[in-house]
Amino acid sequence: MKALIFIQTEDNKILRSCTESISGIQAVLNTADDSIDTLFLDSSVQGELETYEVNINHLITDIRKFNPLEYICIMESMISELSPDIIIFSHTYQTRDWAPRLSARLNIPFVSDCINIVKEEDGVLLTKQMYQGKVNADILAKSPVIVSFQSGAFRADEIKEGTSDTHEKSLNLNINTESIRPLDKFKESKGEVDLSSAEIIVSVGRGISKEEHMHLVKELSESLSAELGSSRPVVDYGWLPHERQVGSSGQVVSPKLYLAIGISGAIQHQVGMKGSDNIMAINKDPNAPIFEIADYGIVGDLFEIVPKLTELIKNHQS
Ligand SMILES: Cc1cc2nc3c(=O)[nH]c(=O)nc-3n(C[C@H](O)[C@H](O)[C@H](O)COP(=O)(O)OP(=O)(O)OC[C@H]3O[C@@H](n4cnc5c(N)ncnc54)[C@H](O)[C@@H]3O)c2cc1C
Repeated sequence: MKALIFIQTEDNKILRSCTESISGIQAVLNTADDSIDTLFLDSSVQGELETYEVNINHLITDIRKFNPLEYICIMESMISELSPDIIIFSHTYQTRDWAPRLSARLNIPFVSDCINIVKEEDGVLLTKQMYQGKVNADILAKSPVIVSFQSGAFRADEIKEGTSDTHEKSLNLNINTESIRPLDKFKESKGEVDLSSAEIIVSVGRGISKEEHMHLVKELSESLSAELGSSRPVVDYGWLPHERQVGSSGQVVSPKLYLAIGISGAIQHQVGMKGSDNIMAINKDPNAPIFEIADYGIVGDLFEIVPKLTELIKNHQS
């Protein structure tokens, strides 16, 4: 089976979700008949790509700035040249913009926002979360198929290193892109807090119920010398600044320990934290989706558990 992975970059760096996809596909396409190629448009990541165990990296030199119409033409041309069985994207805002158009143009189905892939006889079995992560749906897709993977679906640190060559080419695109004129990319202002480098994160959700209760998680976080994170409602209520929000519209984190307190584990939250080494959840609802990805779970009332946990940690330290 042949895979072609589109490598998206930002500020001359490969998006983490793309290295995750390479890693995930390496684990699945691992026989002598399989091959993995990448396609990229930013030459500054060539060196990094050549350190991964893939077949060929295709660098297309025509493009400077994102334009969905040009991206589609590039992909269309490379798909007709390489005939991949699976065409892979990270599930980013950019992908959401142009992968469906590509799918329609080529009449190849697009299964978006997947979390797993298994190789089958004449296609792939894809897993996709539905209903806010409450249900996992398996979709059997025949080749060729376009797939996008959710951020955190695979482990970037399990990527197989090796050597790979890059084939550089210009496609001499001559298309009218006037009908779509992308503006400069929206940049969120960078805050003071960089949760992505934290080793321990104590993260709080709507289960904390009132701002007056926030001291409970702050004390626990201090006792562990952890950073404080949160789900979106806590930020929306104004109890913590946006820079502490974890998730699809917040930060993506991968600490050694992620302690989720009163967080249900909606898909938009999971996207930002499921790459954590260890996840511990405290939630009174045993069916909360967070327990599906938690390594350790405590079903119970956070107002009983959190103060005791803080006390225990403090006693242990003294
Ligand atoms: C476009 C978009 C982007 C989004 N981006 C993000 C994002 O970046 N990050 C994010 O987090 N969300 C994001 N969301 C929102 C997301 O869909 C969820 O609504 C949100 O994550 C839910 O937050 P929560 O788990 O804190 O709240 P809830 O889903 O309300 O869960 C609260 C949990 O607390 C538990 N609980 C209640 N009381 C107690 C108690 N006393 N003890 C123990 N447990 C208790 C409940 O059982 C429940 O599971 C986004 C949504 C959209 C549409």
